[in-house]
Amino acid sequence: MAPRRKTRQITVGDDRVGRVRIGGDAPIAVQTMTAGYTHDIDACVAEIERYAKAGADVVRVAVPERKDTEALVEIMKQVSVPIVADVHFHYQRALEAIEAGVHKIRLNPGNISDRDQVNKVIDACKERGIPIRIGVNEGSIIERKDKQKRAEELGKFFAGHKSGHMLALMIAKLEEYLDIFDARDFHDVAISAKSMDAAMVIDVYTEISKRFDYPLHLGVTHAGPRETGAVRSIAALGTLIANGIGDTLRISYASDHIDEVKDGLELLYSLGKRERKGVELIACPTCGRIQVDLFTLVKEVEKKLMPELELPIKVAVMGCIVNGPGEAEGADVAVFAGDRRGIIYVQGQRVANVPEPEILDRLLHECREFEAKVKRGEAKLGEKVVEIVPPDPIGELGSGAEKIRAGLVEQIGIGGVSVPAAPRASDRA
Ligand code: SF4
Repeated sequence: MAPRRKTRQITVGDDRVGRVRIGGDAPIAVQTMTAGYTHDIDACVAEIERYAKAGADVVRVAVPERKDTEALVEIMKQVSVPIVADVHFHYQRALEAIEAGVHKIRLNPGNISDRDQVNKVIDACKERGIPIRIGVNEGSIIERKDKQKRAEELGKFFAGHKSGHMLALMIAKLEEYLDIFDARDFHDVAISAKSMDAAMVIDVYTEISKRFDYPLHLGVTHAGPRETGAVRSIAALGTLIANGIGDTLRISYASDHIDEVKDGLELLYSLGKRERKGVELIACPTCGRIQVDLFTLVKEVEKKLMPELELPIKVAVMGCIVNGPGEAEGADVAVFAGDRRGIIYVQGQRVANVPEPEILDRLLHECREFEAKVKRGEAKLGEKVVEIVPPDPIGELGSGAEKIRAGLVEQIGIGGVSVPAAPRASDRA
């Protein structure tokens, strides 16, 4: 992976909610946005807190109307994370939101472009010491009447790129807008340039990262429902982050925004860009060798452990002995299953061999016990105690050896299970 690109740093927050640093050497921050109405104060606060609890570092709210910025006065007293006001069309909403105490403003150069109006917002932010994100969106990049003319003017840039004119339009818009901020000597700025096209997102952020040293807020806009939106978002954002680009991100789904937070964090954990909080669950996809209901088991483990355990315990739930021992070796707590039973390991030591109906409870019990031990300083995360020797697949899981002894199956392996050869069924007959 490429080293992280050096950027300026901005700070979002205050003494009460804490301060989130974005850019520079700060960990990449995860953001989301509320889906409900901001003027519905109780619902808005509840939604913000739900995202905060899931791990959102910063939450953005829309303020299309005066009643939304009025509601912000009360909302700001109740929330526990930094809040960004998302402003379009009406610069007054930005001024009202700043007055209400928000921690950051997002402006869209595509719909607030009047220099005097932008200056008013800059001055108010400067006075309060809060940053502004300049958020360009492909969908609202420029007034429609000018689009064709500007595209022609900028046609010579990125001529070989399939969306070269859009790339040029987005960068030109950012340059023009940043000029207003430069003239005001205001550099408490983050920038974004979103598109719904993942390849375009990679290209535009790669280009702007060469041009500006402001922290970059990454996102694929209008990515769709989670099923497809996740692939589109992770393809773009994962590529950029692996290339060292990006200081904060928002994944956008047309579904419950809690998943934006979860998937954003998981992306950063997966790339080693954030220290994991809570359980890391490893599970096999299952195949024709599976002999327990692994999908249900994994879902139950996830549902019960994720909200409960605080430490980044690695838990492996594996379907059989093909990859089970290997994953169990690397995990803190592991189960691998077969023949309707599960063998459970804690840091490489076998602690149980239980029938399928007991796997879940025993696994949860071992995870809780292990976390308690780590908290007491009696165990360390990620420390393997012994080497796992893959068990005899038949004997350990309670089938083969007994079946062979009982003459139900014939022993055919050389050096297989170490039990006295059972009489053949034909011999007994
Ligand atoms: S661990 Fe076993 S059941 Fe799971 S995918 Fe691998 S071979 Fe199949």
